[in-house]
Amino acid sequence: MYETNIIIYYHKDNRYSFHPLIPLLENYFNIYFARNEEELLSLIEGIKGEKILLFSFFTTQILEIKNLIEKIRSLKINNLTLIAGGAHPTGRPKEILDLGFDYVVCGEGEYVILDLIKERKENKIIYGKQVLNLDQFLPFSEKYKKFGPIEISRGCPFGCYFCQTPFLFGKNMRHRSIDNILKLIDILIKNNKKDIRFITPNALAYGSFDGKSINYFLLEELLKSIREKIKNKGRIFFGTFPSEIRPEFVNEETISLIKKYCDNDNLVIGCQSGSERILKLINRGHKIADIYKATEIIIKNNLKANLDFIFGFPNEEEEDIKETIKVIKDLTKMGARIHLHTFIPLSQTPLFEIGLKDFSYNKEIKKLIKELLPKGKIYGNWERQLIIRKRLIEFYKNWN
Ligand code: SF4
Repeated sequence: MYETNIIIYYHKDNRYSFHPLIPLLENYFNIYFARNEEELLSLIEGIKGEKILLFSFFTTQILEIKNLIEKIRSLKINNLTLIAGGAHPTGRPKEILDLGFDYVVCGEGEYVILDLIKERKENKIIYGKQVLNLDQFLPFSEKYKKFGPIEISRGCPFGCYFCQTPFLFGKNMRHRSIDNILKLIDILIKNNKKDIRFITPNALAYGSFDGKSINYFLLEELLKSIREKIKNKGRIFFGTFPSEIRPEFVNEETISLIKKYCDNDNLVIGCQSGSERILKLINRGHKIADIYKATEIIIKNNLKANLDFIFGFPNEEEEDIKETIKVIKDLTKMGARIHLHTFIPLSQTPLFEIGLKDFSYNKEIKKLIKELLPKGKIYGNWERQLIIRKRLIEFYKNWN
């Protein structure tokens, strides 16, 4: 055991990012978990000896992180090293060093994190290496009882221009083997974790060799073997939080597999816009017709359809907004619920810089929300996201 203590900023929005790293570190170091700022500051002040702080965060959190790092640095504590990784730092490593971090790990951290902690490098920006075989890494820590969804696939070939996933993990989609997933489920069951959830960019792409086609055989093998293992003692949630499904992957066959083996009563479908022009501009790779078809099949099969839509994309015009409103109205009449978001520009995506522009909801969108809200047909954090977007614009106006 090294004399080094690791403190993970285990914020609720980022905790799953650390889960593959904890098993790599737990045999060498003492690890502490801070769920919020208060816990973090008290651990930093309370723990004796060398301390390494690990952070992972999204673009949406940059202001809170900036303030927190200022507070930590103002404590003037010795033997303190700050390491950042994850979606936002990967895209803007230099900015993160300027905020007061000592190192930034870009991309996937599994192969580099242990070496970096054991031996501080001269180079402040460390580039990770793609994990080609997910089976080699555990997705949670039994020792520290940090359980969560099982990461079954990583990387996404679609490259939607607003999304950080393909820029963080690459476009090569890799899958954990069914044997390995079953072993992990044994660990979960042994620890009395009976709800089985998954992390994947697109649940129905499990086993796909290119991430774009459906591997019906492996998809059924996966769900069937999990069901056989857990029998009726546990529940399987597939294609719902924390992962979602692309609309063109929904068909009678894929939905019948979910109906047959899983316990979720709803599916989350990424639709994003009701304007064909915007879908093209954001490189979505599916059509509006796919959204209607997916919704129809899901509802016909007695599942709830939760549909993600985003307003405020760069270059979205009045006409695009009108078209999206029409599509949303049609879909809610069919029985769907809308999960509404405000577009937030995320670092390293092609829409980051052009997305740093003010946006507000026009009369038509407000009317739509007013109409759907009391009926429970729309939900989401669009107001908070509007505020975050405004604050990001201010932040980057003053940056550099
Ligand atoms: S939004 Fe979904 S499909 Fe598009 S790049 Fe991100 S993970 Fe892939």
